[in-house]
Amino acid sequence: MPYVGAIYRPPSEHRSFILQVTVGCSHNKCTFCSVYKDKKFQIKSLDEIAEDIETAKPYAPHIRRAFLADGDALIVPQKKLVKIMEMVNEAFPNLERIGIYGNAKSILRKSADDLRKLKNLKLGIVYIGLESGNEEILKRVKKGSTTTHMIEAAQLIHEAGITLSVTVILGLGGKEMSHVHAVDTGKVLSQMDPEFAAALSLMLVPPAPLCEDYEAGRFQLPDAFEMLEELALIITNMKVTHCFFSSNHASNYLPIQVWLPEGKEEILSLIQEVINRHDRNLLRPEAYRGL
Ligand code: SF4
Repeated sequence: MPYVGAIYRPPSEHRSFILQVTVGCSHNKCTFCSVYKDKKFQIKSLDEIAEDIETAKPYAPHIRRAFLADGDALIVPQKKLVKIMEMVNEAFPNLERIGIYGNAKSILRKSADDLRKLKNLKLGIVYIGLESGNEEILKRVKKGSTTTHMIEAAQLIHEAGITLSVTVILGLGGKEMSHVHAVDTGKVLSQMDPEFAAALSLMLVPPAPLCEDYEAGRFQLPDAFEMLEELALIITNMKVTHCFFSSNHASNYLPIQVWLPEGKEEILSLIQEVINRHDRNLLRPEAYRGL
């Protein structure tokens, strides 16, 4: 498949056909993010997308899931996105679900009816990066959305009957704001009430602008055990209806997965035990971490 640049997708989309409909991220300003800094944002033309679909057609009988890349494909104007999803549905008759990354801005540009229409075209899951539930941190990292926007966007996704998956980043407040970052993140996750939530651990990779602050000593990264404290605090403050929470991403020191609220006490005591033992051998080695 002739992708433009490197392609990123959520771990749960590892079996999906990845169709690149945008190049890069429409926002591309988050200071912790390095992934699309080399790409100038553009929406691919319908002809290019049709060609990519054609290339994948020989595999059509096996394609049950599709993921629309890049960073924020939900930003594609409604009419064009509907057309793209119709093309995908037509090409892959066994298709069960389409997934997509969205941010608060791109979600809030659509109405519940728009999203319902996409759901009827098999849009089954939207992945959104909350990153932090703390307003000051969102501002500092130039996320471009407030917690109010994040919560409103989540409500719209629920209203349309689409599954919501939310990502947060351990360590994003630095040592300075570690506690408040974790507490507020748990609280905002509660209000977003997603079906899936995932924690990543901050890794500073050039050309992410936050690297400069780190090197200049203006930003101090919490250590592995401090990140686990954050993980525990987030879960402690999460009051959700029914959510599968995981930290399986390769950036994390301790991979966990748990249904909340059912498994809350058990997972909190496991994390606490690892924190108490303070044994680095219990954690993923630094060399095995990755984005
Ligand atoms: S974190 Fe997401 S929204 Fe922010 S620049 Fe990276 S891809 Fe874009």
